[in-house]
Amino acid sequence: MKDIEFIIEGMERIRPEMMKVRDAIFNYAELPYKETKSAEILCETLTKHGFDVKRGLAEIPTCFTGEYQYGEGGMTMGLLGEFDALDGLSQEAGCTVQNPVEENAPGHGCGHCCLGTGALAAAILVKEYLETHQIPGKVIYYGCPAEEGAGAKQFMARAGLFDVCDFIYTWHPSSKNEVDAMHSNAIMGANFYFKGRTAHAGATPHLGRSALDAAELMSVGCNYLREHMIPEARLHYAYIDAGGTAPNVVQDRAVVRYEVRAPYVRQTKELYDRVVKVAQGAAMMTETEVTPELAMAFTEYLPNFALARIADQCMQEIGAPQWDEADYRLAKQFLESFPEESKKAIRQKFMEDYPEDWEEKWEKPLDSEIHPFTPDKVYLSAGSTDVGDVGYAVPCLNLNVACACLGNIGHTWQMTAQAGSILGEKGTLAAGKMLALSCLRTMQEPQAVEEAKQEVLRRNGGRYTCPLPDTVKPPIDTY
Ligand SMILES: [Zn+2]
Repeated sequence: MKDIEFIIEGMERIRPEMMKVRDAIFNYAELPYKETKSAEILCETLTKHGFDVKRGLAEIPTCFTGEYQYGEGGMTMGLLGEFDALDGLSQEAGCTVQNPVEENAPGHGCGHCCLGTGALAAAILVKEYLETHQIPGKVIYYGCPAEEGAGAKQFMARAGLFDVCDFIYTWHPSSKNEVDAMHSNAIMGANFYFKGRTAHAGATPHLGRSALDAAELMSVGCNYLREHMIPEARLHYAYIDAGGTAPNVVQDRAVVRYEVRAPYVRQTKELYDRVVKVAQGAAMMTETEVTPELAMAFTEYLPNFALARIADQCMQEIGAPQWDEADYRLAKQFLESFPEESKKAIRQKFMEDYPEDWEEKWEKPLDSEIHPFTPDKVYLSAGSTDVGDVGYAVPCLNLNVACACLGNIGHTWQMTAQAGSILGEKGTLAAGKMLALSCLRTMQEPQAVEEAKQEVLRRNGGRYTCPLPDTVKPPIDTY
């Protein structure tokens, strides 16, 4: 039997079991670092399928791996699975009007219930293929928590968990089917703790030193800094602690969190150092003290071109998810459910993307093709992902597979609903097959794997260095 037939038949067989896993993770909807039940069902399923499971890795309780080795030696292939949810996005699966399962509870608005399950299915199919065809090799499923939090993969990369792999594939639920051509920004995030001195703000203000003033002056300084940074860079902040609720007490504490983004990790480090200087300046002006605490950082993601060539071919062979008329109707209802303002922007994008037949696409808004990958199509996106660090340690590639309507907006109740619906199901199954086939085909091309590794070495300058020093622990309760 050809590899592709083996995968298609295998997926039909494990489909009911995989959808139980997807539904369970959808219903658990657990927040970053708290994905205990979601991790557990993935671990249980891996164990049942003969994988050797290790839990609590990289100092994160919900981080795990499931390994299967056939024979001795051979290629080592990795698959990344995510399974965390987003706060406030609870929504009934498949429902096209907003209807939270539980008010203000978390929901899978980024579709990670599908992501973790699709990668799981791929790992099982690759394992079965090695076993059935008696091909020496190893497949590792990486349980990666907290993608929506401060991440986990950079800590996993720092712990060397990916170093054993020859190559790694992953995917993300999307509205399109394509090898991900995104160059994402690198990011660094830190909490700035200001310490001052309380006093009666009316009677003895001259004796107080305000930490809140310092935090506000830091914002002023950063506003000026924004004019003198590269245009692609971003600086955002949020007050974590404004020092209390009493205006008549000079605030002796304030905590502000900053996130710094730029296209390359070295630019992010430079900009972060400048933000630290602004914070120190603010502390000096107010005679307070500041302690910056770096808590998170991701390296930029870039597709691995050697892997992209193989995966692109595999996506073409598997083909887009098989949508039927009912799926198109459902997708149309989701598309129509977005606010008028958003719909205007989406319609504009449809006209740009499909000048010939945008009205048809609007009627049947599901991606039914595979968009070919070309290296010159890589574009810079303002977002960031912890998959970037994996790609700086070993060859790594992300595929986008449609689980939602064309024009969909991520991190919305609509995305939660679609991730739990038949659209998410079909996308997950297609993704699982694409990932499995990509692993099998890459395994048979040692020359391409070598090229992929050279590409990593050119990017990381010889070896992966984590943007976070060893002293920075996973910010499980603080970020
Ligand atoms: Zn996501």
